[in-house]
Amino acid sequence: MREVYLDNAATMTKIPEAIKVEAEFYELVNANPLRGLYKKSVQAETEVEVCRKKLLKLARADESYTVIFTRGTTEALNLVASGLLRGSDGFGVVSKNSRVVVDIESHHSNILPFKQRYKNVIIAKKMDARELFAAEVISLTGVSNVTGKDFTKRIKKVRKMCPKAILGVDMAQMLCHTSVDLKALKIDFMAFSGHKFGAPMGIGGLVIKKELAEKLRPLFYGGEMVEAVSPEGKPSLAEIPERLEAGTLNIGGIYGLSRAVDFWLSRDILKEALKVSKMKEMAKKRLLKVPGVKVLASNGPILTFQMKDVHPHDVAQVLADSGISVRAGYLCAEPFLRYKGWGPVVRVSFSIFNNLEDVSRLVEAVSSVREKMGVKNVR
Ligand code: PLP
Repeated sequence: MREVYLDNAATMTKIPEAIKVEAEFYELVNANPLRGLYKKSVQAETEVEVCRKKLLKLARADESYTVIFTRGTTEALNLVASGLLRGSDGFGVVSKNSRVVVDIESHHSNILPFKQRYKNVIIAKKMDARELFAAEVISLTGVSNVTGKDFTKRIKKVRKMCPKAILGVDMAQMLCHTSVDLKALKIDFMAFSGHKFGAPMGIGGLVIKKELAEKLRPLFYGGEMVEAVSPEGKPSLAEIPERLEAGTLNIGGIYGLSRAVDFWLSRDILKEALKVSKMKEMAKKRLLKVPGVKVLASNGPILTFQMKDVHPHDVAQVLADSGISVRAGYLCAEPFLRYKGWGPVVRVSFSIFNNLEDVSRLVEAVSSVREKMGVKNVR
């Protein structure tokens, strides 16, 4: 039985070339990039810099931005939350008591890095003037991992309402899934994960205004981020971006990321997204006819539903037994699911690598859930 993978919002099916070049890096290059004087090390370093440039192009960011590589969105948001805190080391721009606003649609990765470090974190539900009042840092969801909703308009509105705040966006579900234009959004930073758009896991980053990056405290200290170290006194730290990238980078991942970015740069992202969304719409139309199915949200590649009298985990288990991989539960967005009064859900998320046969397999499997769970059919 062929497995049907419909959990692309958790991690997208990989772009074959992206994982091939990752493996090739280790086979053919396998050098640590910084400070190496030999050819392969220089080659690796060149790829790192080329990848930064491609990412700026992909995000339509001008030269006022730079790229900091991290393991992904979660680490990037932790770097921002920690780095912005003013300290006696001269880094940071805000205090523990500063007002930080995140949106209710946020993934836990956009809530917890701030909640753990700041005393005044507002989880905004309306994003109105009252909630945004005196906000010094605002970190918003680009595209919801629960509903697939695109918040581009909201981000622009918040920028207008709060021209002075540090404004960032969690683009884990946004980059390569819709049109991204940092210049138009006028944001200060955005966080992304390569694995959400076909690149390997363990590589992502922060695209951030250079001026702001200069002020960020490093999250990690160690090799590659320092110019000079003496037994006494303070080390002299490297310039950005290296200052914020301590230790050996995931260079294999960067090779893969670079190739995934090439893939998306060579395509019309909106057209691809529309194709995926149409496929999901077909699934929605057919699922709505299945007794007991209640669709809660359906936008872009994501469809979120519940089935009457069957727990989402049981739905996902029956689907798994039929070779269909979907996600169930709180989707790392528990405050939002509780706020909506939904509780746990089942999420189906498509990618460009799915097809109409996958839709049929999904519908067939969902249609069998109630009977397999011994629940009477309802209308
Ligand atoms: N933000 C959103 C909206 C997500 O969907 C995810 C992953 O599910 C994350 C952040 C965290 O991404 P990562 O685990 O790659 O750091």
